[in-house]
Amino acid sequence: MQYEAVIGLEIHSELKTDTKIFCGCRTTFGAEQNTHVCPVCLGLPGVLPSVNKKVVEFAIKAGLATNCKINEYSKFDRKNYYYPDLPKNWQTSQYDLPIAEHGFVEILVDGEKKKIGLTRIHMEEDAGKLVHSGTNIKDSASSNVDYNRTGVPLIEIVSEPDMRSAAEARAYMEKIKAILEYIDVSNCRMEEGNLRADINVSLRPVGEEKLGTRTEMKNINSFKALEDAINYEIERQTEVLEDGGKIIQETRTWDPAKGVTLSMRSKEDAHDYRYMPEPDLPPIVTTKEEIEAYRKSLPELPDARRAQLESEYGLSEYDATIITSSRDMAEYFDGVVATGADAKQAANWIMGDLSKNLNSDGITIKDSPVEAKRLGEMIALIEKGTISGKIAKQVFAEMWKNPDPPEKIVKDKGLVQITDTKAIEGIVDEVIAKNQKAVEDYKNGNKKAIGALVGQVMKASKGKANPQTVNELLAKKLEA
Ligand code: ADP
Ligand code: ZN
Ligand code: MG
Repeated sequence: MQYEAVIGLEIHSELKTDTKIFCGCRTTFGAEQNTHVCPVCLGLPGVLPSVNKKVVEFAIKAGLATNCKINEYSKFDRKNYYYPDLPKNWQTSQYDLPIAEHGFVEILVDGEKKKIGLTRIHMEEDAGKLVHSGTNIKDSASSNVDYNRTGVPLIEIVSEPDMRSAAEARAYMEKIKAILEYIDVSNCRMEEGNLRADINVSLRPVGEEKLGTRTEMKNINSFKALEDAINYEIERQTEVLEDGGKIIQETRTWDPAKGVTLSMRSKEDAHDYRYMPEPDLPPIVTTKEEIEAYRKSLPELPDARRAQLESEYGLSEYDATIITSSRDMAEYFDGVVATGADAKQAANWIMGDLSKNLNSDGITIKDSPVEAKRLGEMIALIEKGTISGKIAKQVFAEMWKNPDPPEKIVKDKGLVQITDTKAIEGIVDEVIAKNQKAVEDYKNGNKKAIGALVGQVMKASKGKANPQTVNELLAKKLEA
């Protein structure tokens, strides 16, 4: 039987407020353990929380930017469960009246656009962090609790089960990340866990409407883990079903080192949490006028930026999608184009050599050793014919280590393109003399043979001959 994968994501994003959601404690990441705590976030008896207005503002903006309906009347609820990182034994969250509902975002995968529905966005508090004496909970003699993260504001963005592959799930999460960055409500540093996803995966026979039983993998915090975990889980479930087995509804954990998912616990249903209205907080009431004011305050979003790069610079939809997939990359692109560099060249260099180098150094574009202005200057050298596109790759590699202007690097390394026709002609003559076979081939009608000769001339000139001149000279001499 042919199965189809069905995937839904619950994305948690820490909001970049200065203080926690229900108290005045700082949200600083990486502070000394248990230094950003107070009676409210520790859940001591007799204290009362109050809502951080910034959290409501950021959640509404996230809702508007993802085409959600904002609920003018919204409230908090208690989600009850016991775990040592949760001092109150309930998480203040939202249940039946979340701040935002019924939205969507658009993704682009393999040249096809698709809408992914958002069920809801709700506000909640983060839990604390267990610090194990060993490497994980199973091999530890004891664990300490760090409550610094308790009460850090989160939004949870719940998608409809609209994705059908790991690639779609990745594109969706990238889009959510880009939107949150553009509207500046979250740092989205996945490695610090402030953007993480719970992935729900099920299979169903192709053509079947009814959803199959799902498994859930929690706290995935990199795009690679997201794709790997989904692909593994699709394979695992396919095998179980093909062997005539049943999928058990459970929470599984992704082990990136082994590349497998492992069963953790069977999954609770919502009623196990005994949700109840939070009596210590008033409902959140937002007027239409306030919502419209927030809408007006939104900056340009990734989709609009993408459309602009397509229409203004003629970038392909694919290129424009990649360039606008992170706010930092879009700003870097702006910086290159601002020097007067050709936009397509700029996009090619950013998506090509620059991205490759960033990946292998494990750094983000913000920390690129080659500044946008310098890349623009280098592209200008190509456009002026000072260097060829091929030599530019060498120049770029050098720029990665050397902050000098590209012009200086080209001079110092003697990489200036040879445009002097006489000098090139000498090399062309030599190559023709040495490659009679290719010359014969060409004269016998195999016009492609010229490629090999061009290659030889370029090699002999160490890549510095102007390729256009080489082509012209060769063609002239071969036709003679
Ligand atoms: P919870 O996991 O908290 O119980 P929900 O039941 O609302 O919450 O579902 C959470 C996520 O799981 C949503 O993103 C939803 O789209 C997705 N989901 C629900 N059922 C399935 C299914 N059968 N297969 C894949 N994803 C599913
Ligand atoms: Zn506090
Ligand atoms: Mg869930």
